[in-house]
Amino acid sequence: MSIKSNLLNIKSSLPENVTLVAVSKTKPVADLMEAYEAGQRIFGENKIQEMTEKWEQMPKDIKWHMIGHVQTNKVKYMAPFVNLIHGVDSLKLLKEINKQAKKHDRVINCLLQMHIAEEETKFGMDENELQELLNSDIFTTLENIKVIGIMGMATFTDNKEQVKKEFTQLKTIFESLSTRAITDNCELSTISMGMSGDYTLAISCGSTMVRIGSSIFGSR
Ligand SMILES: *Cc1c(COP(=O)(O)O)cnc(C)c1O
Repeated sequence: MSIKSNLLNIKSSLPENVTLVAVSKTKPVADLMEAYEAGQRIFGENKIQEMTEKWEQMPKDIKWHMIGHVQTNKVKYMAPFVNLIHGVDSLKLLKEINKQAKKHDRVINCLLQMHIAEEETKFGMDENELQELLNSDIFTTLENIKVIGIMGMATFTDNKEQVKKEFTQLKTIFESLSTRAITDNCELSTISMGMSGDYTLAISCGSTMVRIGSSIFGSR
């Protein structure tokens, strides 16, 4: 199967309200261009340097999503162009994104990463930390970021019930936030959950953004 046919098959199976992020990490620009020529405009990368190199080489109407863990000292490299950062898990990081976005006179969209998996190793905040961040005085002063939703990764397991429980938990957190007043820097519309192995389940649990790599580009 070609990248193009993989992409078009997946796209045609997604409900209209679900956004597809084509996860292209480790793949060469030629592979991304094949997806681009088939109409894909949103690409996800997990390393800032790799994403920056691809951004430099590729058409400028692409929306680049950072889906990996972000180190504060590297935000500056993607601040000129990144469209959405999925893995924001602290006020410290959000402040740095705001600072770097301001230098470029931009507003950078962010998702707050929630820890929903059983594994300790996965990144993300719990519900208390999320509330604390959103209710902090500093948060309201951040004018160069916009929090548009939340993101989560389920436990790496074949146990569908476990994964379903975790996706449902993320959806529940999202709903508990939906009564928040909309502000200039916070308008929650997006739940980023689901990858190649579990995106149909994620969609049935309320996902609005899926991050799919190997089912489009082949295994890494
Ligand atoms: C690599 C990655 C994906 C895509 O994984 P596939 O199983 O290849 O679809 C999705 N989300 C994150 C955060 C990733 O790092």
